[in-house]
Amino acid sequence: MKIAFGEIGRKITRLSIQDTSWLPSEIAPLSSSVTAEISCRQSSENMVVLEGLLAGRFRLDCARCGDQVDVKLEENFQYLVTTQKEEISDLQEKECSDEECDTLYLKEPVIDVVDILQEQLYLAIPGKVLCDEQCKGLCLNCGKSKNRNECTCDGVLPDSPFAALKKLKKD
Ligand SMILES: [Zn+2]
Ligand SMILES: [Zn+2]
Repeated sequence: MKIAFGEIGRKITRLSIQDTSWLPSEIAPLSSSVTAEISCRQSSENMVVLEGLLAGRFRLDCARCGDQVDVKLEENFQYLVTTQKEEISDLQEKECSDEECDTLYLKEPVIDVVDILQEQLYLAIPGKVLCDEQCKGLCLNCGKSKNRNECTCDGVLPDSPFAALKKLKKD
């Protein structure tokens, strides 16, 4: 998925990407749906303004209990893509509507859409998710989830003498 500056022209070029072939291999299994919308317009011979929206659903692991969490992502992004080496901060102000607009320098006037989407995806996916703010996590003793009352340890740690007693009682 590559777009040459010359193909873009002064009118807005839109791209709607429904397929998931561009997803990085470690993220693909976590995704249940992803779509990307991209629009670009050439603002000068060696500059393109690219705007996009990345939306998808991902199944991530809860950082405390390991349960799967359905995470919905929606990420807007904007780039000023240029082959120009000079200082372009003025242009960025003029061309970008998004304050967080990034500048992307290219050697060749060809935009690799996959590169951009992958970068945005890595930025958008949270490093840590919780199934619930109140998630109680796993029991340090039996390893079972404390959210579903599977653990019956009553907070007694394995190396305490009471744990052995309790086990005897149960048997
Ligand atoms: Zn959890
Ligand atoms: Zn337990």
